[in-house]
Amino acid sequence: MQTFKALMARKTEDGFDAKWENISEDELMDGDVTVRISHTTLNYKDGLALTGNAPIIRRWPLIPGIDFTGTVEASSHPDFAKGDDVILNGWGVGEGHHGGYAEVARVSGDWLVKRPPAFTPAETMAIGTAGYTAMLCVLALEANGATPEKGPILVTGASGGVGSVAISVLAKLGYNVTAATGRLGETDFLKSLGAADVIDRAELAERARPLDKERWAGAVDVAGSGTLAHVLATTKYGGTVAACGLAHGMDLKTTVMPFILRNVTLAGVDSVMALKEKRVAAWTRLAADLDRGKLAELTVTKPVEAVQDLAPKILAGQVRGRVVLEVS
Ligand code: NDP
Repeated sequence: MQTFKALMARKTEDGFDAKWENISEDELMDGDVTVRISHTTLNYKDGLALTGNAPIIRRWPLIPGIDFTGTVEASSHPDFAKGDDVILNGWGVGEGHHGGYAEVARVSGDWLVKRPPAFTPAETMAIGTAGYTAMLCVLALEANGATPEKGPILVTGASGGVGSVAISVLAKLGYNVTAATGRLGETDFLKSLGAADVIDRAELAERARPLDKERWAGAVDVAGSGTLAHVLATTKYGGTVAACGLAHGMDLKTTVMPFILRNVTLAGVDSVMALKEKRVAAWTRLAADLDRGKLAELTVTKPVEAVQDLAPKILAGQVRGRVVLEVS
């Protein structure tokens, strides 16, 4: 029986403990595709899981890690064969099913997408759930009629994973992008990704009038809470706000005024349970519309063993862009 290395989180009396262990294949959960993992990554949700700051892990013991890429070792799924290069994002992996902080994973083939040939395995994890969610946000803006001619697009949490990929994609598509950040020291970095303007996120945390000065034709918001309320109140007539995150908070105290008097659309974006066709569409568009040079600029690479040190840092807003974690 094959054994492999995995970060296993086990419940303890006062919480849980996560340690690297040697696991045997029969400890993996059900699935019709076994994948040899080459790279994984760190997302905000992984930070929450590994620090225990939110109850992300729903089954014990569990291997965390919501994303991975690798090569199929064995498959009884009709769409995948030994040797295929695949990507997994979400589907409750790293939450209720063993995840990506391991050398081997076994999952349902229905959850996998084939790696677009435009990207190396490491690049798919530089994108990861954060980058694929950024693309889902861009698709939501486009589905609601956004075009570069209509005006600037605001991206909140600009120095983070979703934000930095969203800026890169929107700028390549010709949008005038305003980046909102708490790290004004990253202004040059954000401009190098394509932001035309960089503003202090404190501006957006201030309470706005129900209908305040119209500033953005659209927005990608990773913050929620008072930030999202402010963004809605300052979005131009007919604009769309794609909301995917809660980095500021999960509450939302707003009024209906932006919706009923400015025809503003609030588009919710979920990556975890998104249908396969939507995932494939997002990855196809990433291959076309994400500049690989910009992706390299916003990525750092570390060994997977660094993940536990990085987890509290991502929650503290100290991780810039994206982190690729090398597994083998
Ligand atoms: P990161 O930690 O990489 O980035 C989050 C960024 O948010 C920070 O870097 C910081 O950017 C900004 N931020 C932090 N605190 C605040 C605050 N109080 N107010 C405003 N902005 C703040 O995380 P990700 O980009 O990976 O994820 C961002 C959010 O999106 C998270 O809430 C995550 O859970 C969510 N998400 C949701 C998904 C979905 O399917 N709906 C999928 C992926 C992520 P800066 O320093 O530039 O201000």
